[in-house]
Amino acid sequence: MATQLDYYEILEVTRTASAEEIKKSYRKMAMKFHPDRNPGDDAAEAKFKEINQAYDVLKDEQKRAAYDRFGHAAFEGGGAGPGGFDFNGFGGGGLGDIFEQMFGDMMGRRGGQARSGNDIQTHVEITLEEAFAGVEKDVRVITRVACDTCHGTGSNSGAAGVETCPSCHGAGKVRAQQGFFVVERACPTCHGAGRVVKDPCKACRGEGTVEQERTIKVQIPAGVEDGTRIRLTGEGEAGGNGVPPGDLYVHVSVSEHSIFQRDGANVYCRVPLRMAQAALGTEIEVPVIDGSRTIVKIPAGTQTGAHFRLRGKGFSVLRSSARGDMYIQVTVETPQVLTKRQRELLEEFEKEAGEDIKHSPEHTGFFRRVRDFFEGSE
Ligand SMILES: [Zn+2]
Ligand SMILES: [Zn+2]
Repeated sequence: MATQLDYYEILEVTRTASAEEIKKSYRKMAMKFHPDRNPGDDAAEAKFKEINQAYDVLKDEQKRAAYDRFGHAAFEGGGAGPGGFDFNGFGGGGLGDIFEQMFGDMMGRRGGQARSGNDIQTHVEITLEEAFAGVEKDVRVITRVACDTCHGTGSNSGAAGVETCPSCHGAGKVRAQQGFFVVERACPTCHGAGRVVKDPCKACRGEGTVEQERTIKVQIPAGVEDGTRIRLTGEGEAGGNGVPPGDLYVHVSVSEHSIFQRDGANVYCRVPLRMAQAALGTEIEVPVIDGSRTIVKIPAGTQTGAHFRLRGKGFSVLRSSARGDMYIQVTVETPQVLTKRQRELLEEFEKEAGEDIKHSPEHTGFFRRVRDFFEGSE
């Protein structure tokens, strides 16, 4: 091998770095240059190899001491792998464990290993009132449950008919050399299960699970938001062959309400007012999300768009006894159909309003500005 970089430089640590510091730096760099993250990048692959080579020496107290005294010469000759480094140590040593920790989830899924049954997803729609108070809902799911015939073992001879896979010795995955790297993949004999079934059960064809429709009770908490996902641990598909079940995820959607709109813990309610009510002031009765009613005082001269806050009459706050507020938004409605008498009264009203010089729009606000506008342009 040509010139070799110093192992401490490779791992970007000082010569006095502690074992912990070396490990930390190694993990960071191994993550960065891992071939899975840099597919087809030869430079990253070479760097990754270099990092592992350096770490293999520096993580070991004795090897590190030897390296400190003799440098690379300490590991040359002696029939080891390329560059004096035994690459098979890759799978056999601590690196495998680190891989497990760093990429456990990733590798597990890639290897198709069945560590638990599949998760299942379902959906439930609730009303705004149910979201306010909390509710118990029955959800129906088609799932896999343990087979009755073989008690979930998958074998006619019960648990005795299930053996540890001879190819992978129960690991569910096998290691294969790929160039410099040892890669893991699902065991072809047991398809990742780690077990093989002898004398398979006819009812479940050796799977240990059968499809079944189940009804599951789901507690939906008060204050739940639209789009919330509730997880029920262990209510997913049975794993079969002694593997624990997956989880059930229930997606909650809250349907639109005919009266209320919700925004977090606050509730909005649009209330129409007659013209005269808005002008004279009044009291109106409004509904509350909790099913009660309350009275709101509307002051004289209320305009469209005015809103009134009712403290503590809003939505329940998740996992708390607190409540948000309710806002009443007022719209003043113009009558579209008038009786003869209403028309007479309004005509009289309008006549009176026109003669009211002091409050007339002709003398205040908008219309005065309009007059100024035209006079200014002449
Ligand atoms: Zn069965
Ligand atoms: Zn196997």
